[in-house]
Amino acid sequence: MPKPPRIEDLKLTPYWWESAPPAVTAPADIPGTADVGIVGAGFAGMTAALTLARAGRRVVVFDAMRAGEGASSRNGGICSGNIKFSFSALMDKFGLDRTKAIFAEGIAARTALIKLIEDENIDCGFKMVGRFDGANHARDYDAMAHETDLLNKHLDFGAYMVPRNQQRAELGTDFYQGGRVRPDIGGVHPAELHRGIYERALSAGVAVIDETAVTGIDRTPDGFTLSTARGSVEVGECIVATNGYTDQVTDWLRRRIIPIPSQIIATDTLDPGLMDRLMPKRRMVGDTRNLYNYYRPSPDGTRIVFGGRRGADTDDDMRKCLHLYTNLLEIFPELEGVRLTHSWWGYTGYTFDFVPHLAVHDGIHYATGFCGSGVVWAPWLGCKAAHMILGNGEEAQSLFAQTPFPTRPFYNGKPWFLPTVIRWYALKDRFVYGRKH
Ligand SMILES: Cc1cc2nc3c(=O)[nH]c(=O)nc-3n(C[C@H](O)[C@H](O)[C@H](O)COP(=O)(O)OP(=O)(O)OC[C@H]3O[C@@H](n4cnc5c(N)ncnc54)[C@H](O)[C@@H]3O)c2cc1C
Repeated sequence: MPKPPRIEDLKLTPYWWESAPPAVTAPADIPGTADVGIVGAGFAGMTAALTLARAGRRVVVFDAMRAGEGASSRNGGICSGNIKFSFSALMDKFGLDRTKAIFAEGIAARTALIKLIEDENIDCGFKMVGRFDGANHARDYDAMAHETDLLNKHLDFGAYMVPRNQQRAELGTDFYQGGRVRPDIGGVHPAELHRGIYERALSAGVAVIDETAVTGIDRTPDGFTLSTARGSVEVGECIVATNGYTDQVTDWLRRRIIPIPSQIIATDTLDPGLMDRLMPKRRMVGDTRNLYNYYRPSPDGTRIVFGGRRGADTDDDMRKCLHLYTNLLEIFPELEGVRLTHSWWGYTGYTFDFVPHLAVHDGIHYATGFCGSGVVWAPWLGCKAAHMILGNGEEAQSLFAQTPFPTRPFYNGKPWFLPTVIRWYALKDRFVYGRKH
């Protein structure tokens, strides 16, 4: 049995909130009318709002919690713009041209996020540090090498493989069988990024109504009525950007989004020498297991922020925190007994076809289903939804607007199947990778 972590002052709120807690800015009165009403004040809702307000539209954004308190200020801050399929799996499904186009949209989305941060001068610790993906099995290393060849050949990613005997130059562990570096992926402080977008939207005249759930969206001859417990507002257009926090107010979306919880722990500041040994290049990191871990250094490079499965077997926050600690020790045994300062979780929003969607249904615009990669996709598709409303044909284009948005019979937004799926993946991980936890 390893030594337990030190958790004497553990906070169950995101480490990110230490420097950028969600703010409450509800004005006293809800405006009676607006050109556009947005439900959800995360990355997607706030970038849509900023784009629309800068184009002269009167915008009101509602959030059931504080603005950003959903996944947008709780995530790992890894800016990948990945989708869940590999290049070769997509090629089998759609052929080469469409696969290249989908990956190219990921590059465009990532580039747009960096441009937004630069143009708006958002102080959010963004660094293009690259990402190391550890192969948990020799077979995974070979598959990754094949994938890397495809990415470099078709999209010039500049990715490269790192064999196991050189791995310690990337990561202070022998846990992986080598891995791959993607230099095109960076990291950000997610809550500071959200705060930056939010403040610019406020300055552009957006009305953000926090802690006020939209309880009804009803069609009117001129648009929609958005109802809340504090009053209603008549809007011409409506965007729903509720992702993993989608509730019954949009039944159509609820039947299409699978809320999957994800959990993160943060260590205390570590000795600089230890950090240099464990994460010498301060990269973002992932792995190849079904129930994978994702982790990174804090933006100041002093502590490790470590994420993974929250699990469905218990509601006990402490047990979930200890489960992630066990995963952390598998990779970095040196951290046995480390002090953990924060442990928190949030909902990601998955879709049945594992890709994001930009959809219009019954006149409502939806930007959603980012499948755990919304730091890049949510601002991108939020912005696209705004361009759709503005009638900016070219800028509204997205491949994710062109695919049907599937649901499954009898699915009503409650993923009853999730515990079984997680148990199945855990079993596969145990069988293939010998994982015990
Ligand atoms: C623990 C964790 C780690 C993650 N790590 C990464 C990562 O490293 N990289 C990455 O790319 N992505 C990551 N993600 C995913 C990413 O955070 C999300 O995809 C992204 O933030 C989604 O943004 P959003 O604006 O669509 O939704 P959210 O930020 O989740 O906002 C949705 C909002 O809608 C509001 N809402 C819901 N219903 C209503 C209603 N009826 N009325 C009013 N408001 C309502 C909610 O209160 C919520 O604030 C992670 C997610 C989690 C939870």
